[in-house]
Amino acid sequence: MVRPRKLFAQHWLKSDKVLDAIVKAADCSTNDRILEIGPGTGILTRRLLPLVQSLLAVEIDRDLCKLLVKQLGSKDNFILLQGDFLTLDLATNLTAFTNFQNQNKVVANIPYNITGPIIEKLLGTIANPNPTPFESIVLLIQKEVAERLYAKAGSKTFGALSVRVQYLAECELVCHVPASAFYPPPKVDSAVVRLRPRQIETPANDPKKLENLLKLGFGAKRKMLRNNLQSVIDRDRLSQLLEQLNINPQARAEDISTQQWVELANLLTVDS
Ligand code: SAH
Repeated sequence: MVRPRKLFAQHWLKSDKVLDAIVKAADCSTNDRILEIGPGTGILTRRLLPLVQSLLAVEIDRDLCKLLVKQLGSKDNFILLQGDFLTLDLATNLTAFTNFQNQNKVVANIPYNITGPIIEKLLGTIANPNPTPFESIVLLIQKEVAERLYAKAGSKTFGALSVRVQYLAECELVCHVPASAFYPPPKVDSAVVRLRPRQIETPANDPKKLENLLKLGFGAKRKMLRNNLQSVIDRDRLSQLLEQLNINPQARAEDISTQQWVELANLLTVDS
C-alpha cells in the first residue's frame, strides 16, 4: 500500500462496488480514448485499460508516477503525463503521440480540493465553452458539490455553479459513495456524477452579461432577485421581464432555471 499524501488530496478508493458503478457509467468501448485525472495507485486505471482504445492519465505525484510506469508502463494503450492537470497543456505534450490525442471521455476520481477548476478546464465557461467537448465526463467528487451540479431550480442546493455547469452539460447522479469506500476516509461523503456536454439550446447573446448576472443574482443568497439586481436593472422593469418569462416577481435567484437565466440575460441584452 502506498502511503497517501494529504498535500495532493490523496484518498485511495477501495470499493469494488463503486469501481463497478464508475466503469458502468462511463459505458466504455474499444473506440474510446479516455482521460483520467489523478490515477493515484491505478486502481481505476487497471479496470479501464482492457476496455478502451487508449487511456491518458495525468498525475502530479512523481513517486506515484514511477510506480504507475513500473506496473502499467508495458501496456500499449496507456500513457502517463506527470504534472498538474490544471496547468498542463495536454495537446502540446502529446504532439509526438498520435494514438493518444483527442480524448473523447473523462473518467476520474479526482482530488476534491481542485474540483471547481477541473470541471472548468473540462467544460470551459459560459463565455468560453470547450470547443471540442467530451462525450461524457464521469467524476467521483464530494457529495455537496455533486448535489449542486445536478440540482434543479427551486431546490436549496441550486446555485451559480449549477447554472454555469448545466448551461454546458447535462448532469446526473450515478451513485452516492460513503467515506468508508476510501483509505483514508475523507471528512466528507462523495458521489459519482456523469456530465454530458451538449449543444446549448438557447445560447446567451452576451455570455459575459449572463456571467455577470449570475454573480449578482446569487451574490446575496436568499434575497429576492429584484433586490440583488438593482444595480443593473430597475426593479419595475425587472418585474415586467420576470412576468414576461412567467416567473414570480418575488423569485429568488435559486428559483430560476438555467434556461430562464439565459432568457432573462437575453432580454436584458436587448434592453441595454
Ligand atoms: N484515482 C485514485 C486516486 C484518487 S486521489 C483512486 O481512485 O484511488 C486524487 C489523485 O489526484 C491523487 O493520486 C493525487 O496525487 C492526484 N492529484 C492531486 N492534484 C493533482 C493535480 N493538480 N493534477 C493531477 N493529479 C493530481
